[in-house]
Amino acid sequence: MSIQYTEAYRKAFGEYLRKGTPIRLYMKQAGNTDQYVWRTQRDERVRRSHLANEGHVFSWAEAPATGHPGEDHNCRCEAVPYIPGEVEFGFHEFITSLASSYGRWSNRDFVRHYYKGDGRPVTLLEIGHLREIAEQYAYDDGPAGAFRRLTDQIADEARGSGAGSLSYEFGAAYDFGDVAFSHGDGVVRGTFVGHVDDRGTMLRITGETTFEFSDVFEDPLDVGIEVGGTPYPIVGSWTARFSAEVFKDAFRSVYGAVGGR
Ligand SMILES: [Zn+2]
Repeated sequence: MSIQYTEAYRKAFGEYLRKGTPIRLYMKQAGNTDQYVWRTQRDERVRRSHLANEGHVFSWAEAPATGHPGEDHNCRCEAVPYIPGEVEFGFHEFITSLASSYGRWSNRDFVRHYYKGDGRPVTLLEIGHLREIAEQYAYDDGPAGAFRRLTDQIADEARGSGAGSLSYEFGAAYDFGDVAFSHGDGVVRGTFVGHVDDRGTMLRITGETTFEFSDVFEDPLDVGIEVGGTPYPIVGSWTARFSAEVFKDAFRSVYGAVGGR
């Protein structure tokens, strides 16, 4: 089954390259409704909605909201036939609802709170920035976003620890200035807590990651002059579920510091 599927896919991809035939239709004609792993090119040109699909297992019979890889204009993503135990996958999914019923704070609101808020801390949720911060961090930070990078790091940690429970902490400052100028140097720290199962040549990794954002608003004019307000913390947190199967052999893997693509 798996070899036939691979051949069918290669043929479909060839048809797509030569004639632009959508892979999905071809695979349907071939009577194959199996699964694939979405792989992006992992660079700045990949659109965010496709980075969110990176490493997920999808079915040809049920397209994600984005459509299948290669269907969108100029999409360079690939559908790698998913064969359990032979093909790797790895992805994070937000558990926390990022939706906010609060109005979105503008730069003016940040400054107003600096003068009138008496230093009261605010959360990303209540200022309407939670989704933007969490998604920018997950998909836009660096060439492929923190989620993809974290998959590499967790895979390497799992190789080091082997089967059993796994905990991994991380954290760094990021430029969230695109969301609001005052988030220019927010910090995100996180902890992954999960479990590693031995699956022969592969490791199965499952767990959850908690992310904590922190920043302090202290200089509304951004000029280093004290102008009479009160600095206040900006905090936020969210969680994501993680699921992966990676090769124990890092050199064979697409995940990890030494893995090749
Ligand atoms: Zn794409």
